[in-house]
Amino acid sequence: MNRSSDGLGDMPAEEFRRHGHDLIDWIANYFENIEGFPVLSQIEPNWLKKNLPASPPAQAEDFGEVLADVDRLILPAVTHWNHPSFHGLFSTSTSSVGVFGEMLTAAFDMKAMLWRTSPASAELEDVVLDWLRQMMGLPEHFEGIIYDTASVSTMHAIAAARERANMRVRDEGMSGRDDLPLMRVYSSEHVHSSIDKAVITLGLGLRSLRKIECNDRYEMIADKLAEAIEEDLEAGYLPICVIPTVGTTSTSSVDPVDAVADICEKFGLWLHVDTAYAGSTAIIPEFRPFFKGWERADSIVVNPHKWLFTPFDLSVLYCRNLDDLKQAFSLVAEYLKTSEDVKNGMDYGIQLGRRFRALKLWFVIRYFGVEGMIARLREHCRLARLFAGWVENSRDWEMMAPVPFALACFRYCGGRVSKGLTHYSDDELNTLNEHIMDAINASGEAYLSHTKLNGKFTLRLSVGSIRVEERHLEKVWKLLNDQLAAQVAAAPQ
Ligand SMILES: *Cc1c(COP(=O)(O)O)cnc(C)c1O
Repeated sequence: MNRSSDGLGDMPAEEFRRHGHDLIDWIANYFENIEGFPVLSQIEPNWLKKNLPASPPAQAEDFGEVLADVDRLILPAVTHWNHPSFHGLFSTSTSSVGVFGEMLTAAFDMKAMLWRTSPASAELEDVVLDWLRQMMGLPEHFEGIIYDTASVSTMHAIAAARERANMRVRDEGMSGRDDLPLMRVYSSEHVHSSIDKAVITLGLGLRSLRKIECNDRYEMIADKLAEAIEEDLEAGYLPICVIPTVGTTSTSSVDPVDAVADICEKFGLWLHVDTAYAGSTAIIPEFRPFFKGWERADSIVVNPHKWLFTPFDLSVLYCRNLDDLKQAFSLVAEYLKTSEDVKNGMDYGIQLGRRFRALKLWFVIRYFGVEGMIARLREHCRLARLFAGWVENSRDWEMMAPVPFALACFRYCGGRVSKGLTHYSDDELNTLNEHIMDAINASGEAYLSHTKLNGKFTLRLSVGSIRVEERHLEKVWKLLNDQLAAQVAAAPQ
């Protein structure tokens, strides 16, 4: 079938319309029926590869057939992040209106490098990020820039911190120099691995990252940080940056940002706050105390793609002075020089072309309204606490960490399971908890992930899907107790 009279060009409008309507129906059905799918894909590794032709089609195919293959081949290989029983890692999901944003962004296909190449993206990004700043209660001097992920946001922040340390790394690099002391970046021992990756990428090396001890609530101990900096200065090292986390990845613990800010001020260090996950909750007035001190930061990363119903990817880096990023990265080739006195996105990072990501966040904020977003986040936090209450009131399970946001860390504690006392060694308990998690995940009914806390295998249950309701927490609680009974019955006593 010819695409157009000469067989060239794009899909004819009539065909686009027809398939487009089919595709929207497909997505609507998908969201409507999502609970019918196993949360984790049940395929064996390489199943999809084996079922796809190894070479591309020489002749045009009908798009209807392609879409049919999505049902037949792609769907079984999908792990459904939008499933309300997705409680692993951090539960994140898109809203329907966020999908509209992605569609239009793809339709415009603009590359937001210069203001001139994409005024809509450049200006909407500024406006939407200022809306979000107001929603989160950050002072006016914070200006944001959108990147793909928190990993990239943080990498840029550390690069800017390194530039401010005045060691001319931008021009002279770090290799082949003997005038460069060991630079230090500080975080807690519960920091996200993206910080490790950032120091690798930036050539600082893992040796530059010093992880500070935490208290029994998994929060960085500020005094230990101050001691470490003193010690490093004594050794002739060059501290450049401290990265406290509000909402760590393992347990969602909250580092004492205000106390860390005092230390950064005293030693003249860049303060970067990683709140990729929990930052969204700063829009809830009663959650603001968790963020005390972040208004003193040089940079803050928050991920609307994590917990603000915006489809992946959209991470925001707020800076006290966005020019710090420009100092580190701006490089204007002759062919990119323009006469307008405007903000050009390409000056603030390593990317030249940038996606028009602000559109979907603008859709989301307008569609739900700030109050609607607050209400949804509040409900997620309520559900996580409700679950934590069930754990605390049971004789079989125990909570392993506080629940500041919507993540519960818990485990089977080795106590009595309905019939009588049980008794397990630490190793046996670890194995038992792991088996409970594995069995639930294999069933496709729900997805849980884990962490290790002081050597103890700990289950993590995150609540964050836009589709989650109380019944989904009841469901996973029943799954846990059923699996516990089954595993204990099977375990040697
Ligand atoms: C999720 C998370 C990250 C990494 O997020 P990406 O956007 O996937 O890079 C970093 N830090 C924290 C605290 C996180 O929760």
